[in-house]
Amino acid sequence: NFKKSLGQNFLTDINILHKIVTAGNVSENDDVIEVGPGIGALTEQLAKSAHRVLALEVDERLIPVLAETLNPYDNVTVILQDILKADLKELIKDNFDGKHPIKVVANLPYYITSPIILHLLDTKIDFSAIVVMMQKEVADRLSAQPGTKDYGALTTRIQYQMECKTAFIVPRTVFVPQPNVDSAIIVLTPLKERHLKPYSEEQLFDLVKGCFAHRRKSLWNNLQGIYGKEPEIKDKMQQVLAALQISPQIRAERLSIDEFILLANKLSEAKIIEK
Ligand code: SAM
Repeated sequence: NFKKSLGQNFLTDINILHKIVTAGNVSENDDVIEVGPGIGALTEQLAKSAHRVLALEVDERLIPVLAETLNPYDNVTVILQDILKADLKELIKDNFDGKHPIKVVANLPYYITSPIILHLLDTKIDFSAIVVMMQKEVADRLSAQPGTKDYGALTTRIQYQMECKTAFIVPRTVFVPQPNVDSAIIVLTPLKERHLKPYSEEQLFDLVKGCFAHRRKSLWNNLQGIYGKEPEIKDKMQQVLAALQISPQIRAERLSIDEFILLANKLSEAKIIEK
């Protein structure tokens, strides 16, 4: 009676549950938000370790099950809520006391892994850690280094704000029902202050997206795809790349996040990116 459409693959292995709590370093000093508690296996372990737990589940059929499983714990609140529509700032104000660092710990529904992480980052809430299970393939993209095939727009968007570490790999066999892929636990922690700042984050992320639009094409090709092929624009773009000593013929995957930031800022100074 699982809902495949909601990405319901439940964890059954108590060792894995413990390992997730340990990877998140969850203590009675932490308030924890859990996305998709399912039938409450991870929620229960979090309740035992954390100060308070707020769990958001979108499947109403699971609410009574969760109420029963979590009945012994007085530090857990379960809300029927779609995470992508949740106003987390409001929920945090209503459910936490503001005196404890807030962590997100979850075994994510895989069909919306990236949207959920981006939603969490977009809130600008200062989570002390985001500890999430996802398909290994997506985890590889989040933690990728420049110059590798996994490095892309998603990598730069996430690593712009967070440090990404793979804590451990989880075989598909520990889930019910069993998914078709292995999983990984990823720990995201806030970056210590970046030294480079983009003039505009929105422009930066648009540039990055555009540069990865056609992965196999050159940076030069993709830049023309974003900003056009008029000779005047091409001239200016060429000057910007030359000034940054970036070869137009490389692929975007070669560029570090700092290089993307420099590129966005220079393109903006050259008035190629509109203010
Ligand atoms: N935490 C449980 C575990 O580890 O066994 C369940 C994890 S399961 C991979 C993902 C859970 O997220 C399911 O319970 C599913 O119903 C829930 N879910 C799916 N989409 C959601 C959404 N948009 N907002 C909140 N929860 C969602």
